[in-house]
Amino acid sequence: LEINKSIDGERKYSLLSVIDNTSCLMGSRLLSRRLNSPSTKRSEIINWQNCVKNLFENTELNNEIRSILKKFPDTERSISRIVRFGPSPKDLLSICQSLRFYFQLSEGFKALSTDKVFEKKINLGELNTLYASLDSALSEDVPLSSKDGGFIRTGYDKCLDSLKAIEKNSKTSLLKLQTKYTEITKVKSLKIKYNNVLGYFIEVPISNKEKLNQIDFFIHRQTTANTIRFKSLELDKIESKILESSTESIELENKILRDLSDKTLFLHKDILGFSENIAQLDVLSSFAFTAKKYKWTCPKLDNSNKFIVKNGRHSVIERSLFDKSLTPFVPNNCVLENEKFVWLITGPNMAGKSTFLRQNAHIIILSQIGSFVPAEHAHIGIVTKLFSRIGASDNISKGQSTFMVEMLETANILRDADNKSFIILDEIGRGTSTFDGLSIAWATLQSLISKNKSRTLFATHYHELTEIEKNYDQIENVTCEIKEWNDEIIYSYKISKGISRGSLGIKVAELAGFPEEVLKTARKILSDLENKKNIYTEPTKELELKNTNSLTKIEKSLGSIDPNNISPKEALNLIYELKNLI
Ligand code: ADP
Repeated sequence: LEINKSIDGERKYSLLSVIDNTSCLMGSRLLSRRLNSPSTKRSEIINWQNCVKNLFENTELNNEIRSILKKFPDTERSISRIVRFGPSPKDLLSICQSLRFYFQLSEGFKALSTDKVFEKKINLGELNTLYASLDSALSEDVPLSSKDGGFIRTGYDKCLDSLKAIEKNSKTSLLKLQTKYTEITKVKSLKIKYNNVLGYFIEVPISNKEKLNQIDFFIHRQTTANTIRFKSLELDKIESKILESSTESIELENKILRDLSDKTLFLHKDILGFSENIAQLDVLSSFAFTAKKYKWTCPKLDNSNKFIVKNGRHSVIERSLFDKSLTPFVPNNCVLENEKFVWLITGPNMAGKSTFLRQNAHIIILSQIGSFVPAEHAHIGIVTKLFSRIGASDNISKGQSTFMVEMLETANILRDADNKSFIILDEIGRGTSTFDGLSIAWATLQSLISKNKSRTLFATHYHELTEIEKNYDQIENVTCEIKEWNDEIIYSYKISKGISRGSLGIKVAELAGFPEEVLKTARKILSDLENKKNIYTEPTKELELKNTNSLTKIEKSLGSIDPNNISPKEALNLIYELKNLI
C-alpha cells in the first residue's frame, strides 16, 4: 500500500510523506507508529477526531500550537542520552526549554478540552519546581560537553561565583602585568598569551631577543621563527591561581550539573509523560493542518458494516499529479453495504483499478488513526483487519515465486478474513495460466462472498468473473470507464456500474510502442481465441445448482402442459419463459 515508502523505496510519495505535517520529532515518530498500527477502538478514534475537529475549526489556535511545537526539543532522546551517557548541559537545557514550551502549550491543551486524548497524567507541580531549578541554573547558551564548564549561570551558586571572581581578577592581574612588562622592556608589542603546552607566557618579536635575554627575571622558554617566549615567577603565580580556581569551578559546575540531572531523572516518568502528550498533540494538530491544506473531510465512524465514500481520492497520486502539473485526480465513490459488500472491478490496463483499491484502503487506515480523509463524505464501519493482496511483491530471496507469494497471501485472507474485515484483491491468479488463474479467482470470490463475508474490492482482468453477479446479490460489477476516440484510448478514471468491454491489453502494448508486426500477430491470435468456444461457460457448483434448478423448473413447466390443448400464443409465451430459465 506504499504506506511508509513508495514502490521505489523512497519516503517521497508514500502515504506517510503526504500526511506527515508534524512539527517536532516526537510527533513524527508517533505518527509513523500510529500509521502502522491503526486503532479499532471507536471511542479512542472518536476522541482523536474531536480534537482534530477542534483544531481544524480553530486555525489560529492550531497555528499557534504548531509554532511552539516547531521549537520543541526531542525530550525523549535527551532523557535516554542522560540515562546512557550521563548528564550533559545540552540535554538538560533541552529539557528545561521543553518544560517552558509545555507550560506555554497548556493553554492550548485546555482549549482543546479533550483530556482523554492526552492520557498521560503528569505531576505539573513537581515539573514546575524542576523547571525553576534548571532555568535559574543553566546559561542560555551551553557547551556540548561539560568538561570545560561555562554552563552555570552567575548568581546560581555563591561559591562558584567567588571562584569565577578569582579567575576573573587573576585575568585582570595578567593585563596589569602585561602593561608593567611593556613599560620595563619598552617593547610595545609584548603580549601575555596562553597555549596548552606552555600555559601563560610572555611573547615578543624575535628582534627583541637580546634585550629580553638581559632581563634576569625573564626565563627563556621557546624561540619560534618570528617570536621569542619567556616565563616569569610573577606570571607563574597568577597562572596557578587561575588554574586552581578554574579547576575548582569546573568541578563545582559539574557537581551542580549532576544534582540537576538527578532531580531530572527522578521525574523522568513525568517528563516522558508530557513528551507523549506533546507527540499526541503534534500528530492531531498535523491531521488538522493536512485536512485544511488538502480539503479532507472527517469520516463518520461506527460499528456497522458500511463503507460509503463519496468522491474519494488517492492522496499520494493526487499529490504527484499536482506536483507534475498533470490533470487533476478524478474522485470516485465506493459503496459497500450489508446487502452488497463486494465490488468486482473490471477495466482495461491503466484505467485506475489498483489506484481505486489502494485509495479506499488508505481511507480506512487514515480514518482509524484519527485523521480526516481525502473524500467529500465518508461513512465507515470500523474495520478490524485490512487485507491487501496487490501487485507482484516478489519474495524470490526467500525462495518463493511471485505466484507462490500471491497464493500464500490469498490463503491467509481466505483463512482469516471475517465480516469486520476489508479486503482489496488486485488481479489474483494472473501469475499462472489463464485457466488456472480464472478458476482460482472465481473460487476465491465465491468464498469471500459466502464464507468470509468481508467488504471486498476485487479487481480482475477476467471478464468471465462478472457472470458471478447473476448468482449473488452481494456483488456489484463496476468498471473503470474508458473511451476510444480516433483509435486512441481516453482514460476517464471514473468508476461506474457495469462491465468492461475488454482488457485492451493490445491497445496498451501499442501505446507502449510495440512493433507493428508483433501487434498484428497479437490481434490475429486474440481474434482466433475469441472465436473459440469459451471454456469458462462451464458452470461452477453454484452455477450447476442454478442450472439444475432451472432444469427442474423447465421440466416442471413442460410436464404441466398439454401440447394438444395450448393456443399458438400461449405456446409462444411459454417458449419465452423457458428461454429465460436457461
Ligand atoms: P490499473 O490498475 O487499472 O492498471 P492504475 O490504478 O495502476 O491502473 O492506474 C494507472 C495510472 O493512472 C496511475 O498511475 C495514475 O497516474 C492514473 N490514475 C489512476 N486513477 C486515477 C484517477 N482517479 N485520477 C487520475 N489519474 C488516475
